[in-house]
Amino acid sequence: MIKVTNLCKAYGSTVALDNVSFEVDDGHIYGLLGPNGAGKSTTMNIITGYLAPTMGEVVIDGYTLGKDTLKAKKCIGYLPEIPPLYPDMFVREYLNFVASIKQISAKERIDEVQSAIDKTGLKEVSERLIKNLSKGYKQRVGIAQAILGTPKVIILDEPTVGLDPQQIIEIRELIRSLKENHTVILSSHILSEIATVCDDVLMISHGRVVAMDTTDHLLSDKKRLGRSFTVTVKGEKDKTEKVLSGLTAVVTNLSFVSEEDGKCTFTFDTEKEDDIREDVSFALSDERLLVLSLSEEKKSLEDIYLAIMEESDKQYEEELRLAKEAEEAEEEDDDEDIEEDEQFSEESDESNGKEEK
Ligand code: ADP
Ligand code: MG
Repeated sequence: MIKVTNLCKAYGSTVALDNVSFEVDDGHIYGLLGPNGAGKSTTMNIITGYLAPTMGEVVIDGYTLGKDTLKAKKCIGYLPEIPPLYPDMFVREYLNFVASIKQISAKERIDEVQSAIDKTGLKEVSERLIKNLSKGYKQRVGIAQAILGTPKVIILDEPTVGLDPQQIIEIRELIRSLKENHTVILSSHILSEIATVCDDVLMISHGRVVAMDTTDHLLSDKKRLGRSFTVTVKGEKDKTEKVLSGLTAVVTNLSFVSEEDGKCTFTFDTEKEDDIREDVSFALSDERLLVLSLSEEKKSLEDIYLAIMEESDKQYEEELRLAKEAEEAEEEDDDEDIEEDEQFSEESDESNGKEEK
C-alpha cells in the first residue's frame, strides 16, 4: 500500500530522517513509535505530501509523490499533530468545507459528511460550534475530516494526546473501527496504546528505523528481552538461596523478595530459551524445599521498547564518537600540513636571503 525508500530529511544542519525505508500493507493498523524528536511527525508530513523530503521516494497505492502527487494524496486522510480545525465553524459546516476541498462532488458530499459524522460519533454535536466542543470531540472532528472521502490510508499523529482517560478509550475504539475500511498509521509515545491498538510496530530513533515487526512478535522476542521468573518456596530463605544460586547454568540475577510464614520468594533471570521449570523445581525438591509457585513474568511492549532504544542510543553515540575522532584526526593532519608549509616557506626565505647576499 505504501512503500517508503531511503527517505532523508534535513532541516538546516539537523538531520531529522536518515535513510528511512519501510512498507505498509493493506488493512493493518501500524504504530509509529519513538521518543520526542525521533522523526515521527516528519515521516508523516512527508508521506502525506505536506513536506518534501531531502531525498528518497514515497509510493502510495502505485502513485509516486512528486510525480502523481494529487493521486497519491487522494489515497490519504491525515490528522496532523495540531488538528486543522476552524473553531468558528459548525461541525457539519466544517466537514462540508473539507469535503469541498477534497473535491468530493456536491452530490456525494451530503452522504459522505453524514457517514463521517456517524462513524466518529459526532451526531449529537454536528450542529454545534467547534470551539464549544470538548478536546475529545474536537479530536473526533479531526478524525472525521481525515476519513472524509474514504481514503485508503488514514494517518493520525498522536491522536490521543491531551485527552482524558475516558476520551482516550473512546478514541482508541474509534481508531480500531477504522481498520474495517482503511489502513491506519498512528504515532504515539504511549506504549500501552500501541500494544492494544496496533497490529504492527515501527520504531524510530534518531531519524532511523530501529525495529519493524508485528506487535505479537516483538513481545515474544525472548532473546532480546531475556526472561524473568518469580519463585515462592516453602522453606527457609538461606537454604533456598543456596540451591538457586547453585544453578549457575540456569539462574542469573537472583534477588530476594520476601520471607514470611515459612515461605520465601525470589526473582531471577535466565538466559535459557527452553523450559527451565523442571531444572528449578527438581533442584529445590532434592533439598526438600517445596515449590509453591513458579511463574514467568510477562514482558510488556515497554520492556522491548526500552531495550531497543538503549541499543540504538548506544550505537548512535558510538557512531558520533567515531565521527568526532575522524574529524579530529583530519584536523591534526591539516595542522601538520600547515606547519610543514610554514617550515618550507621559512627555509626558502632563508635560502632566498643567502642568494641575495
Ligand atoms: P517527533 O514527531 O518524533 O517528535 P519530529 O519529526 O517533529 O519528531 O522532529 C524530528 C527532528 O527534526 C527533531 O530534532 C526536531 O527538532 C527537528 N525538526 C522538526 N521540525 C523542524 C523544523 N521545522 N525546523 C527545524 N527542525 C525541525
Ligand atoms: Mg511529533
